[in-house]
Amino acid sequence: MSRIYNFSPGPALVPEVVLERARDELLDYRGTGMSIAEMSHRGKVFMKVAADAEASLRRLLAVPEHYDVLFLQGGATLQFAAVPMNLCGSNDTAGYINTGSWSSKAIKEARALCNVVEVASSEGSKFDRIPPVDEWQMREDLAYLHITPNETIGGVEYHWTPHVPVPLVADMSSNILSRPVDVSEYGVIYAGAQKNIGISGLTVVIVDKALTGKARPGTPSVMDYALQAKSDSMLNTPGTFPWYLAGLVFEWLEQLGGLTVIAERNARKAERLYTAIDSSNFYSNPVMVSDRSVMNVPFTLADAERDTAFLEGAEAAGLSGLKGHRLVGGMRASIYNAMPDDGIAALIDYMREFERTSA
Ligand SMILES: *Cc1c(COP(=O)(O)O)cnc(C)c1O
Repeated sequence: MSRIYNFSPGPALVPEVVLERARDELLDYRGTGMSIAEMSHRGKVFMKVAADAEASLRRLLAVPEHYDVLFLQGGATLQFAAVPMNLCGSNDTAGYINTGSWSSKAIKEARALCNVVEVASSEGSKFDRIPPVDEWQMREDLAYLHITPNETIGGVEYHWTPHVPVPLVADMSSNILSRPVDVSEYGVIYAGAQKNIGISGLTVVIVDKALTGKARPGTPSVMDYALQAKSDSMLNTPGTFPWYLAGLVFEWLEQLGGLTVIAERNARKAERLYTAIDSSNFYSNPVMVSDRSVMNVPFTLADAERDTAFLEGAEAAGLSGLKGHRLVGGMRASIYNAMPDDGIAALIDYMREFERTSA
C-alpha cells in the first residue's frame, strides 16, 4: 500500500494514525463485537464516544461553560441558513464581511431570510485581502456580524479577531483547530468537518447559550440550536461515524500538544511554501502578504498553458488534489493540520524541478 500526498481542499486528508485506529476498530469496536457504525446512537457505548469527543474539543479550544457544542449535519452550507433563523428576525438586519466565495454564499442564503448589509467587501480588489477595519461600515443595530475567517478558495485569512458591538459569527470550516482562538470573542463558530475536524457528514457548531432559544417561528427543529442542545445533538440520528472519527482527530491533536503546537507547525509549513513561491518568477500568489491563508495556498504559473502539464506531473509524483478552484484557476495546495512536513517538501521539490524543466 502506498499513500500519496493529498492536497485536496475537502474532503481532505485525515491523519494517518487516525485512519489506522479506525481501521483496527472497524469490525469490533473495543470488544463490543460490532462496529461503531452499527450501534445505536442512544446506546451506552456511542453516548460515551460522543461525550468524550465533545469534552476533547472543549479542552482543545478552551470552550467556556456558557457555550453549547453541537454535532450536527447539513454542512456549513446549512448553517448559512441556520444562523439567520436562530439569530435574526425576518425584519432584522444582519451584517456580513464579504471576502470571497464562501462569504458570498453565506450572504446569498441569509438574504432570503432577513435584511443583509455588506459591512465591508474586498470584491473590488478581486478578494485579494481582508478589508481593513477602518473601511468597515459597522452598525450597532445588527443582529450579528458574519465573517469567514479563512476563505478556502481564495486563500485569504484573518490573522486577527474583529472586535464589534454585536455577536460575531464565524464560518471556520477551513481553519478551525489550526491555531488557538478565544471562543469568548464569538457568538457562534461553525465548521464543516471535512477539512480539519475529520470527514464529511458532520458540522460542529459552538454557540453562546445566551443567543439560543430565540429561533424564528417555523425554524425546523433540527436547525434550532436550543432544541439540539437540549437533546445533546440527538434530536434525530446524528452522523455517528463522523462524530466518532472527529473524536479520534481531537485525541490526536491533544496528544500532539494542542493548538499552540499545531499552529507553530502550520505556520512553518505555510512559510516554506510561500517562500518557495515568492522566490521564483515562475510561480505567484495574488493575496496580500499580511492576509495569506495558512491552510489554503493558491498559486499560478507564469505560463497558464503549462497548468495541465504541471498537474499531470504532480499526480505522477504522488501529489494529488492541486488543481485550483474553477473560479480562480491555477493551483491550490490545501495544507491542513494533517499535512506532514514531508508533503510540503515533496511539493516544493516538484515545483522547483517543474520550473527548471519548463525554462
Ligand atoms: C468547505 C467550506 C464550506 C462548505 O461546507 P459544506 O460542508 O460543503 O457545506 C463553507 N465554508 C467554508 C469556509 C468552507 O471551506
